[in-house]
Amino acid sequence: MHVVYLFDIDGTLLHAHGSGRVAFDAVFAEHHGIANASEGIRYGGKTDPQIVDEIYLARLGRRATADEHAAFLHAYLPKLRALLATHPVEVLGGVLETLAFLAERPEVVLGVATGNVREGAAAKLGAARLERWFAFGGYGCDSHVRAELVARAAERGRAERAGGEIREVIVVGDTIHDIAAARACGATVCAVATGADPAEALAHADAVFASLAELPAWHAARFG
Ligand SMILES: [Mg+2]
Repeated sequence: MHVVYLFDIDGTLLHAHGSGRVAFDAVFAEHHGIANASEGIRYGGKTDPQIVDEIYLARLGRRATADEHAAFLHAYLPKLRALLATHPVEVLGGVLETLAFLAERPEVVLGVATGNVREGAAAKLGAARLERWFAFGGYGCDSHVRAELVARAAERGRAERAGGEIREVIVVGDTIHDIAAARACGATVCAVATGADPAEALAHADAVFASLAELPAWHAARFG
């Protein structure tokens, strides 16, 4: 019987300190001549394609076309990688201990469920030296709808343990959007108040942690 953990990245595992936003703004300025285009737009819990659409709606009054989405994300990735190379990424408290704890348990399968497109996720995890923990994931390039990418991540988690029965899928995230997506997929959800939303806003999760340092004890109490 396996337990699949799906970790969100930004605000849950790490803080990239605005590198994503700076890169998005730089691309929009390059393509449309408008600076600070995402001012006032909240990124937390949203998918990359969703954020692109929100910027287009706010500045141009329409969504991005499929071609614009592709061009935008193509231009975004090298900018993001360059920013991550010069702006240190912060690994959040308790993350390394929690991943080490979970990884040595035979019942646990570790993946990510993130609104980042796959290459963006890889760049951020790589900059934080966390990539080795995660063999699979669901990404913003799988769907602009978070619940759909979480479902995709859960499917890939099941495939990782082909033939093994999955006892539970557990989403770990820092926003109300992570909670809603987990609920839509029938997953358990642990919220951590290290990101965009305060603990009070996350109170409807199955568990709310001040930091991921609390997760090992929760896991041990639930699964023995
Ligand atoms: Mg997040």
